[in-house]
Amino acid sequence: MSGRLPDVHPGLIRPALAGLVPYEPGKPVEEVQRELGLERVVKLASNEGPYGPFPAALQALERASLELNRYPDGGAYLLREALAARHGVRFEEVTVCAGADAVIGYVVLATLDPGDEVVTGWPSFPSYVLDPLKVGAVPVRVPLRDDRFDLEALLAAITPRTKLVFVSAPNNPTGTTNSRAELDAYFARVPAHVLTVLDQAYLEYVDDPDYPDGIEEYAKAGHRVLVLRTFSKIYGLAGLRVGYGVGPAEVVSAIGKVRRAFDVTSLGQVAALASLDEPAELERRRALNREAMALLERVLRERGLEPAGPAVANFVFVRAGDAAALGQALLRAGVIVRPLASFGAPDALRITAGTPEEIALLAGALDAAVSAAR
Ligand code: PMP
Repeated sequence: MSGRLPDVHPGLIRPALAGLVPYEPGKPVEEVQRELGLERVVKLASNEGPYGPFPAALQALERASLELNRYPDGGAYLLREALAARHGVRFEEVTVCAGADAVIGYVVLATLDPGDEVVTGWPSFPSYVLDPLKVGAVPVRVPLRDDRFDLEALLAAITPRTKLVFVSAPNNPTGTTNSRAELDAYFARVPAHVLTVLDQAYLEYVDDPDYPDGIEEYAKAGHRVLVLRTFSKIYGLAGLRVGYGVGPAEVVSAIGKVRRAFDVTSLGQVAALASLDEPAELERRRALNREAMALLERVLRERGLEPAGPAVANFVFVRAGDAAALGQALLRAGVIVRPLASFGAPDALRITAGTPEEIALLAGALDAAVSAAR
């Protein structure tokens, strides 16, 4: 017999979830292929690195897959130790979770009670808003200025109830970053009752020698900051879900209390650890991204689309009028990009750099979309 499973008592689901629209991930390639009957589909929608895991990570994955019958090391000991050594901080100051996104979720769970406030820029990474809403806290969204966080305005939005400030630098979805001077000025003034979460998910891509490493410049200088990093981007491990935070031991310890016991898979741990030993591969990918970004910006400008700038990570933000329609047209041509209504920018698309070949496909798809619109 098939049929509906029963409804539940109306009071069962927490009221804080009533108006919450869950994060909608970029469409997977397979789904678009199936829906549209397309043979070749490229995904430039989720800011992943385009090249897969590092060679040493692939070898480590092969070895570790033979032991998948075992639970992972719940404390991710070796990876945490390696990260602590790499950053010159204590083991107790590093938390490793299932993606930087999990660190965001856990720091929210560890700090916020209903009614507590969070300040962030907007448009920005949706978890900064969605995760506080899930626990009944109040996200305060401060509009960007010149497509970057307006740190002065963030400071002005802080109240005695503010516990967290999320700063995305570079910012997703605009691809731009605050300068060292702006961040310095922010940290000089942020009140002591606030923990700043400085999200540097894209740090490895940034070439500007003036761009500050938040761990070196702010955490070690004694500021109350949790700095986020991830293996999902340049390290090519998005599918394995590994990210980390470096910050005060009390925050790391509180995250340890709310996180799931086996948060990071064994494969994620070994692959991330092996990736740390390949600086030449990291450098190679940085160079490839630099070239891909230049090509992507050229392709867009030649078609009258001006990316927000300077774009310093592995993606661009372009205002495109009816961005949803252009996104759909590109999708029909086999190129998945990210319309940004759910990020708070309904007139814009976010496009990940990808490989030169993928960018060439995007160029063709843009031409097809423009001629179809005529
Ligand atoms: N922060 C920002 C700014 C991001 O863009 C992303 C990923 N899109 C994340 C955090 C989450 O990364 P992870 O895959 O490590 O969860």
